[in-house]
Amino acid sequence: MEKTFGGKTIELVLGDITRQEVGAVVNAANPTLLGGGGVDGAIHRAGGPTILEECQRIRNVRGECPRGQAVFTLGGNLPARYVIHAVGPVWQGGEADEAKLLASCYRSALRIAVKLGVRTVAFPSISTGAYGYPVGEAASIALLAVSSFLASEPNAPDRVRFVLYDSLTFMTYAGALDSL
Ligand code: ADP
Repeated sequence: MEKTFGGKTIELVLGDITRQEVGAVVNAANPTLLGGGGVDGAIHRAGGPTILEECQRIRNVRGECPRGQAVFTLGGNLPARYVIHAVGPVWQGGEADEAKLLASCYRSALRIAVKLGVRTVAFPSISTGAYGYPVGEAASIALLAVSSFLASEPNAPDRVRFVLYDSLTFMTYAGALDSL
């Protein structure tokens, strides 16, 4: 399923983000940047140790990555050239700026993609796994943040692919994209 915004495309697929042949894949990282479970673990396993080494170097210089922000490394053994590590909010009931931080995550990752000059970026569903963000709300926020960015930034990537890992998440994003 896909939809176009100002000549740029958002596409939804059911699949594994570690298999995407794109300019950059986005990781749902945690503030330590030192890896974790879920999609973070999968990216580090598939991409090999150079990604973690690079994350460690960034951390030594800049400290932890605040929630709502992102950093990038090379893609190691992944088919993607770069990994953009975005740190999402932990769901705390909705009154702790979660929506703002989640939107900021997508925008920060896309700003890095612009700097890197990549034409296609693949995102997972940030914060809706271990971080507990309700998928319906997260899908609307993610798609609104990305579509606004694509429509307003002349240098935005041509294509953003959401790679959803299970069919319930895929169906939820499909419903949200439909009603956007
Ligand atoms: P967070 O800590 O930000 O919630 P998780 O990795 O726990 O991140 O989950 C985010 C989403 O990524 C969940 O929907 C999870 O099912 C999904 N996910 C896990 N592994 C992969 C993968 N290999 N490719 C794409 N999505 C994945």
